[in-house]
Parts: sequence; structure tokens; C-alpha cells
Amino acid sequence: MPGTLYLVATPIGNLADMSFRAIEVLKSVELIACEDTRHSLKLLNHYGIKKKLLSYHEHNENERSEELVKLFESGASIALISDAGTPAINDPGFVIVKKAVEAGINVISIPGSVAFVNAAIVSGLATDSLFFGGFLPSKSGERRRRLLEISGVPATLIFYESPHRLVRSLSDCLEILGDRPAAVARELTKLHEEVIRGTLNSLASHFSDANPKGEFVLVIDRAGEPTAARKDSLSERIAELEAAGMEHKAALKTAAKEFGLSRSEAYRRLQGSGDK
Ligand code: SAM
Repeated sequence: MPGTLYLVATPIGNLADMSFRAIEVLKSVELIACEDTRHSLKLLNHYGIKKKLLSYHEHNENERSEELVKLFESGASIALISDAGTPAINDPGFVIVKKAVEAGINVISIPGSVAFVNAAIVSGLATDSLFFGGFLPSKSGERRRRLLEISGVPATLIFYESPHRLVRSLSDCLEILGDRPAAVARELTKLHEEVIRGTLNSLASHFSDANPKGEFVLVIDRAGEPTAARKDSLSERIAELEAAGMEHKAALKTAAKEFGLSRSEAYRRLQGSGDK
């Protein structure tokens, strides 16, 4: 009989956030696949789990998944863990799950910590509908385009963010989404855990003075009334700015910025057939 793939959540900072079932499963499997064997050893040693470890990370996911599927077929059950939190949530895992499903292998999740869910529930923002966008693109132009795409999503928006990009991301969010209520959850479950609630504007100024350190989740309220930056069409936005009295050149420059485009890119789009 083929073995089972267990996706086991591990803590996002506090070692005590490990479920009894997670420990049992890790003790029961033949092999544990993990992102970084040295990092995971600390957790496994803490719980007295002695198992063969195999590295499974973003650079070897494809080859490793082929090997693992053969092992499942030979009857082995294997657990996948990541460095922190839930595997396959902005961490390796998707490839092996897809291949295991295709091969008819049983896939079981062992639930536990996941940073974006914990950030959402402490944010004070609505949790009836959540949009988790993972990490926003690192380049400002791409980030703005992405924000514009999702600006109308009728859900609380959640993103992971690195400390050195937090301020730039907050200011792009402010510019594209408008000054919405928002929260930043920092170092969840750890010693310096804090949740800062306010609006995108107040958070951007708070963190520009604060030299952000640690791990962050950004939670942003859903769209209210449509803002100018949410208009779908570049030409429509330019026309709107002109109608408000702006010179064509200035309107093009402003709209380009809002859409995350350079002025020449925006100009090219207007010349072409589609200006979206
Ligand atoms: N698999 C993880 C999960 O289930 O949440 C996410 C891994 S992703 C590579 C790492 C990002 O998750 C961090 O950059 C940060 O945005 C967020 N994160 C992880 N742990 C966190 C914590 N303790 N507090 C706040 N954010 C955290």
C-alpha cells in the first residue's frame, strides 16, 4: 500500500505552538522532508524526534518530488515541514502536493500556525472575507500594478512583507489603495510581538521613523468608495484629471504613477489600441 504525505505545520516563532498530533506524526513517519535540515533539527531535538531528514527547498523541489513519489509508492509515509508555519504557504510544498495528488497518494494536513491567519484575526479588520496576496512584488512598478489589479477586491487584503521593504510597500499601498484602515502584525508569537493599527498613512509614517525589524504581515481594509487610482483605464483617468483642470502632460505623469508605469510606457500604451 502506498504511504501518505503529511503536511505538518510548525511554529512561527514560539516553539510551544506545536500540536500533539504534529509531534506524533513526525515521530511516526519514515522520513521528514524539510527546507533547511539544520534549522529543523532544533525543533526536532526540542521534541525528542529522531528521524532521517531530507532537504526539500525551492531549488530542488522538482527532483525531490520525483524521488518522494517513488518512496510513497514503495509504502513510505513522509512528513513535509518548512522553516516556519504551514508548508506550501509561501514556502515549498506545492510541487510535491501536486505530484502526490497526480500519483494518487493520500495527502493529509496537520494544522497549526500560519502567520497571515493570525495577523488577520488580531488586526481588528473584518474577517468574513480575506484575500491573501503572499509577498507583493519587490519592484515598485510591479507592486503598484499588482495593487491596482486587486484594489477593488471586496475582502480584507493581507500581505507578507520583509522589514526592508515595509515602508516602501506601505507608501505604494497608500498611493494606490487610498488611506484605508490597516494593521501591521509584527513578530507574532515571539517576544517582541506587536500589532500596530491605524491607517496606511499613519502606519507609513510610524514605520518610516521606526527602522522596522523582524517579521511582518500587512493587513488592509477592503475598498470603500472607488478612488481615482482604482479606475481601470489609463485614458479614463487622464481624462478625469484633465477635466479637473490638469494639463495633459501633468495628467499623464500622475496617471502613469498611479498605474505603476513609467511616463514613456504610459505614452506607448495610449498610442496602442488597448490602454488598460
Ligand atoms: N509558511 C509561513 C506561514 O505559514 O505563515 C510563511 C513563510 S514566508 C517565507 C515568511 C513570511 O511570513 C515573513 O516574511 C513574514 O511576512 C511572515 N511571518 C512568518 N512568521 C511571522 C511572525 N512570527 N510574525 C509576523 N509575520 C510572520
